[in-house]
Amino acid sequence: MPELPEVETTRRGIEPHVTGVNIREVIVRRNDLRQPVSESLTSLEGRKIVSVKRRSKYLLLEIDDRTTLLIHLGMSGSLRVIDPAADWKTHDHVALTLSSGKQLRFHDPRRFGLVLHLTETDPLTHPLLKNLGPEPLEPVFTAKHLKAACANRSAAIKLVIMDSKVVVGVGNIYASEALFRAGIRPGTAAKKLTLSRCEKLVVAIREVLRDSIEEGGTTLRDFLNSDGEPGYFKQRLFVYERKGQPCRVCGTEISHAVMGQRSTYWCAKCQK
Ligand SMILES: [Zn+2]
Repeated sequence: MPELPEVETTRRGIEPHVTGVNIREVIVRRNDLRQPVSESLTSLEGRKIVSVKRRSKYLLLEIDDRTTLLIHLGMSGSLRVIDPAADWKTHDHVALTLSSGKQLRFHDPRRFGLVLHLTETDPLTHPLLKNLGPEPLEPVFTAKHLKAACANRSAAIKLVIMDSKVVVGVGNIYASEALFRAGIRPGTAAKKLTLSRCEKLVVAIREVLRDSIEEGGTTLRDFLNSDGEPGYFKQRLFVYERKGQPCRVCGTEISHAVMGQRSTYWCAKCQK
């Protein structure tokens, strides 16, 4: 599943190819995604893409008529910039043919993704976006913010950092890995974390996401490859999906439990 680093890598991958470029044609081959593809998408023909931004796992293509094209990759979505003459793959659902001679294609086998045309002047007021917590890589996500979000919550810290009202884009892999780096057991009651442990966790969340985005940089060329789909990348994992294997730091067998219906992994020695 594309997580925040993959979405940011996608943003960086498509940005140079779509910014300042006109949309010649909008092609919708299937509109039954998680929500129906907006019918007003065709009104974008002839318009220019001004910028490509990201909020959480949503990509926001700002259009020169002050509307926004919102794309979410869902469970299995990907975007490619390719030759419009390239063969259509079974799950290529939406495409924008560009004045540059290229085409931006949205591919999504499981169709949990979204392609929506937002007409709000400020797209961040849209219902999908307005209640999102701070971006993990921006200065607003601080130890103080996290500590306040943890106050009076007996829930496991792992579930709290995966709550998009607390911070966006920390999926299961990154939550597990960040807690390992911070030396915090995932089941720790959130309210028990001190400010200094919150600080460690904020730093660790930033590190795992940044490392993964950096890793993704090496896959950017795939956005121009008409054969393959952009590969989702896996950084070197310390605990995630390593149940029973030796901890890379201390050799202790990695523990596993299901928490909030999600698999959770930790080292009982390194994480307290
Ligand atoms: Zn260990």
